[in-house]
Amino acid sequence: MEGLMEGSLYRSMLESLNNSAKVIKLNPNVYERLKVPRRALILGVPVKMDDGRVHMFSGYRVQHNQTLGPFKGGLRYHPSVTLSEVAGLAALMTFKNSLLGLPLGGGKGGIQVDPGKLSKNELEHLTRRFTSELNTFIGPDKDIPAPDVGTDSQTMAWMLDTYSLEMGYSNTGVVTGKPVEIGGSLGRDSATGLGVVYIIEKALATMGRKLSGSTLAVQGFGKVGMHAAIEAYALGAKVVGVSDVSGALYNPNGINIGDLVRYTKENKFIKGFPEAEAINNEELLALDVDILAPCALDGVITEENVESIKAQIIVEGANGPMTTAASDYLNKRGCMVVPDILANGGGVVVSYFEWVQDIVWLFWSEEEVRSKLKTIMYRSFDKVWEFASKNKQSMRVSAMAVSLQRLEKAMLLRGQAW
Ligand code: GLU
Repeated sequence: MEGLMEGSLYRSMLESLNNSAKVIKLNPNVYERLKVPRRALILGVPVKMDDGRVHMFSGYRVQHNQTLGPFKGGLRYHPSVTLSEVAGLAALMTFKNSLLGLPLGGGKGGIQVDPGKLSKNELEHLTRRFTSELNTFIGPDKDIPAPDVGTDSQTMAWMLDTYSLEMGYSNTGVVTGKPVEIGGSLGRDSATGLGVVYIIEKALATMGRKLSGSTLAVQGFGKVGMHAAIEAYALGAKVVGVSDVSGALYNPNGINIGDLVRYTKENKFIKGFPEAEAINNEELLALDVDILAPCALDGVITEENVESIKAQIIVEGANGPMTTAASDYLNKRGCMVVPDILANGGGVVVSYFEWVQDIVWLFWSEEEVRSKLKTIMYRSFDKVWEFASKNKQSMRVSAMAVSLQRLEKAMLLRGQAW
């Protein structure tokens, strides 16, 4: 499994695991098992493109750990996807699900592709063939994919349909994050962003402050960032900066997020939005704000640019947006960094709710989903905060430590670590 070490995300995940394992004196056998995934699949996925050519795409599904329940985690479509990255993200899902108290293990999938360059027809074929190749490895009791970077509810609908056709009956629990019309949950679309906002509220509360009137910059205006901005704005936060692939925007008086969402519906990107000044992505990260929420890709805050960061609280809406070294630096400077496995857990929490609803065929109202999500996010934050205060450790080390303690108990009880 040496190849896994090639990517920076996997190495950063291992560094985090090592740091917290030392703090809690994790059982060495448990540690050995968590360092590598249970299973890593590499798939050559053939697609007949619209022009008649056959193109082979590289697809991956990594199943890291299933001690607490079925493997669970998203499927990513991005040109930079590698086996190492998917494996690192799969491990992060194990830690996230354990920390949040969910009965789920960790997995992740990815296809090396730029989805923006494929037609809808090509994307559908790619998704269906990938699902077909995975057929025996996924299922509601085995491994449950969900949306991630570059995929959405339509991707999940195709996966559900392909899997169900092959099984011979409609099997909605095989994926989460699917449209509500075919077994999805209300509130799943906004769940990760809303979870980020619940975590921001809790982080501010530790400083005796409130969200209303606080300033916020959001990097990424997609599935996570856009909803985080919408929810924070609705609760009275001043969203002074946002960015997407087209550039970044700044308005010291706060951007009207409702207007911006309407603008992006018409223009696809935030670029050209008239009620804010155009800035670049580095300037956005360096804004003097109360809270910075990096909600796009991994590796955006590193040793290179960490000194320019001025925010007092950083909430990792994306998976792995900061290197461990950058996070340590900010921590020493008195900045609170809430790590991904806690901060962006809202998505998989509502995925869990969706999976439960599909099992019992009884669907909940959006209010019920939001209130149950709030309970889990608040409770998880409190656990991590309590560990951090008691042991004088950062939120990053503490989140991983709390997660590892649950996994350690479960693995020892099951006789998996002798
Ligand atoms: N892709 C999301 C994550 O990284 C959601 C995963 C899921 O719902 O299974 O947490």
